[in-house]
Parts: sequence; structure tokens; C-alpha cells
Amino acid sequence: MELSPDHDLTDLSIWEDIWATLAEGGWTLIVSPPCNTFSRAWFHFQDWPGPRPLRNFNWLRGFPWLSQHHRAVVEEANLFVDRCIRACLVCHSAGGKFIIEHPEDLGLVKDERPGSIWQWIEILDLIPTCGAITFAIQQCHFGALTPKPTRFLGTLATDDKRCHAGLPRFDKIGAYKGPLPKSCGHVHKHKLLGKTANKWNTSPSASYPPGLCEFLAGLVLNAAHSFGRGSKNQQDKGQTFSAVNSTSDTDFTTPGGSSSRGGAKASLGGGSSSVGGSSSLVTAKNSACGGSSSTTTPGLTAEKIINSR
Ligand SMILES: [Zn+2]
Repeated sequence: MELSPDHDLTDLSIWEDIWATLAEGGWTLIVSPPCNTFSRAWFHFQDWPGPRPLRNFNWLRGFPWLSQHHRAVVEEANLFVDRCIRACLVCHSAGGKFIIEHPEDLGLVKDERPGSIWQWIEILDLIPTCGAITFAIQQCHFGALTPKPTRFLGTLATDDKRCHAGLPRFDKIGAYKGPLPKSCGHVHKHKLLGKTANKWNTSPSASYPPGLCEFLAGLVLNAAHSFGRGSKNQQDKGQTFSAVNSTSDTDFTTPGGSSSRGGAKASLGGGSSSVGGSSSLVTAKNSACGGSSSTTTPGLTAEKIINSR
């Protein structure tokens, strides 16, 4: 698949191409569905006037009373998650590896329990179905300005000490109990909630810090090595496919404002490099879910690694 800013991720035919490519076998897939409609920050609307939540723990796929506009927004986000799940299943069935990235489910906020993809049964089913593992991290341990608690679920294994294994745990009222510790061990001055200079503070946190790109590249290279050790599909080839959807969280439901959110567009990029010492993968992940205020287009990036063995 070629990189193109004209790709529209709402277009089923693009996904059919992606699924067909993954079904060739031997791919390593990194997916990061848009997380803006899952944002915990929206539960602080009483403190900072702004977007209202579109879903919660009881209404994982969106409140039933949403306006037609908000219903369309939440359903588009659901569609991306569903298609990413299918991509993971296709990838796994063809002997590939996958990993999903999304904000950690941190439980109760303002007496409300926000919705999270980590509550979706379709996501949790990947654990028994594919033998997936799940762990959470604080991105500040990978070079980010704030902890930005983040969860991964997939078939890429790691023994990195910065990764806290296991599903999120909660007490009786839904308050977060781990596996991430309460404190990351740093003192952070940068605020993630609210607004600074009229921009949502969550916006600059959308990109992956370099350390996280390096960590993911390491996972992928490990997987590529294991392909080389006798995967039935790809004896001599490991391929990486990274889907990163990024949408702005500032575009809709600002008070009195109209939506400037256009159709979701995607770009698809490909590249090749030799396994064992390449860092070009890192460049595949320069944008993550949550979106920055300067981009309103989800991106899809592909990388292919040819094993030099
Ligand atoms: Zn920290």
C-alpha cells in the first residue's frame, strides 16, 4: 500500500485492502485507535467548559441520548476500534503479531466511570483468543513530559521493567488500584488537564516520546527475529504494519461552535529496512491517539521490514 493523504479511513475498501494485506501473513501490527471520544478529560467539564462525555462505563458505545451529530462522532470512533480489532484477528490468524495501544482505564473520575476500550469484551476476548498479554506504562518513563498512563494489549512480549503486567484493577466503587503505581516517582510541572493559552493541555501529549518509539521498535524487532526462527508463513521475512489514528479533540462540541471535523482521512506509508539495527521504524510512530490541535486527520502508517538473513 502506498502513502496517500487521500485515504479515507471511514471507507471500507481501504480496510479491506489492509485486512487482505495482513492476511498474507508474517506482519507485525501496531494499532492505536482514536481515543478522543474516550477522553477522561471530558468528565471535568464542570471545571473547564468544553466537550461533554459521549460514553461511560455503562454506555461503552455511546450514550443513547446523544444528538445526531454526537451519535455520528461516537459511531465513527467505534467503527475504527471494531476495524482495528478485526485487523488484529486477521493478523494473528495469519501468523503475525499485533499490539493495541490506548490510554489506561484509570477508573473513577468526578464520581463517574469513563468508558474505555479496555472494558470492551471484544478487546478482552483477544487475550484468550490470541494468547495476548496486556501491560500498562507511564510515558514519562519513556521521555514524555507527563505520566500519560497508557495500556498495551497484544502478542508482542516484553520483560521491560517499565511495563506493569496485568489488566487494570479497581475497588468496589471503581477507583483505580493498579497495576500502575499511584506515583510515577517524578515531580511533573506540566499539566495534562484543563487549558493553557486556550489550547487543551492534552494536545501536546498526543505524540509518542522517542523512548516509547524505541521501545516499540524493540518489540517489533524481537517479533521479527522470532519470524526468522521458523514461522510457517514467513521463513525469511518479517513485516511491520502500524495503524495510528489521530483526531483532534478540540474540534467538536466546543460551546457554541460548529464542528469543523471533516471526514477521517488516512495516509499510508511504506518503507523497507533491514532487520537488526534499523531505527526507521521509529519514524513510523510520530503521532498517537488523542491528536494534536494541528492535525484533524487520522493517520495510518505502514512499515515493512525485510529480514536480511
Ligand atoms: Zn513521571
